[in-house]
Amino acid sequence: MRGVRDDVLEAVSALRRGGLVGLPTETVYGLGADASNELAVRRIFAVKGRPSRHPLIVHVACADDARRLAAAWPDEAGVLARAFWPGPLTLVVTRASAVSDAVTGGQDTVGLRVPDHPLALELLSTFGGGVAAPSANRFGRVSPTTAQHVRDELGADVDVVLDGGPCRVGVESTIVDLSRGAPRVLRPGGVPREALEAALGAPVPVVTTATDVRAPGLLASHYAPRAGLSLVSAEALAGEAGRRLRDGATVAALVPAASPTPAGVVRFEVAGDDAAYARALYATLREVDARGLDVVLAVPPPATGVGLAVVDRLRRASAPRAPPDDEGHGAR
Ligand code: AMP
Ligand code: MG
Repeated sequence: MRGVRDDVLEAVSALRRGGLVGLPTETVYGLGADASNELAVRRIFAVKGRPSRHPLIVHVACADDARRLAAAWPDEAGVLARAFWPGPLTLVVTRASAVSDAVTGGQDTVGLRVPDHPLALELLSTFGGGVAAPSANRFGRVSPTTAQHVRDELGADVDVVLDGGPCRVGVESTIVDLSRGAPRVLRPGGVPREALEAALGAPVPVVTTATDVRAPGLLASHYAPRAGLSLVSAEALAGEAGRRLRDGATVAALVPAASPTPAGVVRFEVAGDDAAYARALYATLREVDARGLDVVLAVPPPATGVGLAVVDRLRRASAPRAPPDDEGHGAR
């Protein structure tokens, strides 16, 4: 096809063959498959080691393509799609019958998103169908924010990795459930809750316990590095670091630019505002693991704007890591 990049054409033919594609988006890199090909979708679960009943987000090129995969399109979906697509927002709506159980985990809903990344949009519009894609990491681990992270983690298990540079947002999409009445946030992410409320002109609650939804992002332990992670206040950092160092641990600290770091601690500056913290978060946790450090002490940002998503991911990364039960649910 004229005007389409060679690497995108290669990725499109991999999708058409039932292959898996590492796909850049503004949030994190995805592991994509043709959403209409059940065998291809099952390969995603096998490669990730993800429980098969956990639903995947379907990525599409535009809101019209999203509507075709929905049985109902509430007014709020129109408002939010116009305000935030392309962008880091996933809408959960009742699924059209054509959407397979493999994608939805057998649920009657589907999560839909138009990503805001030129390569992803070129891939989706050239491919012409929905691409089911969770984050391109093994289940429970830190999400990838560069093409190299995807290659390092998945190697030959992924057929083509499109390199779209480092992700601009750095944490996953905000998931809003529109399938059960008033909109609710299932997972905080790249679109701030405050912005949703401004667009809808109404408060939007955040669901804090996963009782009636199956979303891996809601598991207590998720997004976790190998190093043990604890949240600490800026004031408590020096004392906590001292205790861990005396125990013989190697210690990393994630700190805002201004705060000092105690001696003996490897400092990772997550400078500036909540958006900068989000952008740096996952790459920093990978770096901590690459250096073999035992402990990360993270000073969280304020829980406003994208900071709410950062605090959410830090909490889950710090949760006790119970072995998963047969549905893959760790400790809640
Ligand atoms: P991940 O696969 O780790 O990138 O995360 C994608 C998130 O979207 C997971 O938490 C999914 O469970 C969630 N998700 C996708 N579809 C749905 C749906 N129909 N209902 C609820 N959550 C969904
Ligand atoms: Mg994920």
